[in-house]
Amino acid sequence: MGSGAIKWHVHCSVCGAFIEKSAQSDSEVECKKCRSTLEIFVKDDMVSVRPIHIRDEQLKSRMRTYSRKMMNQGS
Ligand SMILES: [Zn+2]
Repeated sequence: MGSGAIKWHVHCSVCGAFIEKSAQSDSEVECKKCRSTLEIFVKDDMVSVRPIHIRDEQLKSRMRTYSRKMMNQGS
């Protein structure tokens, strides 16, 4: 049960591309596919992905939330 090795498997809120995030703290990542900058919030067992620097208000509201428990079920 080592901490720091947790990898989040999330998807770009804009284009849906798969993104792997290894850090446990909040950070920003760039989607390799659509070049959108995504803001990632980590809170307890949940991670939220939100596109930033984007003009489209509809896309901006497409924050996606992932739970670690949900992901463990899939593997
Ligand atoms: Zn993308």
